[in-house]
Amino acid sequence: MLASPERKKSLALKASEMAANVGAVQSYLDTRGISEPVAAHYKLGSTTEFGSLRLSIPYFTPAGVVDIKYRCALTEHGDHKDKSIHCSKMMKESGCGSHLYNAQSLIRASDLVVVTEGELDAVMVEGYTGFPTVGYPGTSNWEKRWRYCFDGIGEVIVIADGDDPGRKAAEHVAQAIGTAARVVDLGDGHDASSYIRDLGVSQFVERLSR
Ligand SMILES: [Zn+2]
Repeated sequence: MLASPERKKSLALKASEMAANVGAVQSYLDTRGISEPVAAHYKLGSTTEFGSLRLSIPYFTPAGVVDIKYRCALTEHGDHKDKSIHCSKMMKESGCGSHLYNAQSLIRASDLVVVTEGELDAVMVEGYTGFPTVGYPGTSNWEKRWRYCFDGIGEVIVIADGDDPGRKAAEHVAQAIGTAARVVDLGDGHDASSYIRDLGVSQFVERLSR
């Protein structure tokens, strides 16, 4: 669904109100390795609108805010792989379509774009390396039409999370984008965030180079 000007205005207002309360999710951001300036740059925030503490992740395009996602920020819930936790890891604004996260970074991209699975990996990669980075929202949520966003870009690096679903998703995305794309596998158990957190930015950048 296309966002009307009124809707974009109300989403932008909501996102900035939530960003003002980013302090409430600081301990969650710390576990992710997302620093205060990086969180501020992406206007990450917090809300209890859904009954428990959540990190708000606004989707910006050059036209404004088109969606907001809400990630559970209870550190004790971790990555939600434990099925006894009855909590939705991610919630979204109702009535929003599916979007590529951080699409505005494509404007300044000509030589290289990095593609991650998930919004917060995109925040980590772009926030710490400066490479224009977009995130697709989950292994089974790539939309065919997004390949047109990469037309004419010299090199597209698709990061594969280090597990079977992650590798399959990255291969699928790279094939959909076409010849400019190649997959970089970060190794068993790693995603972009954990790699940068555990091994450092320069080693991550080195891993991306051929
Ligand atoms: Zn949760």
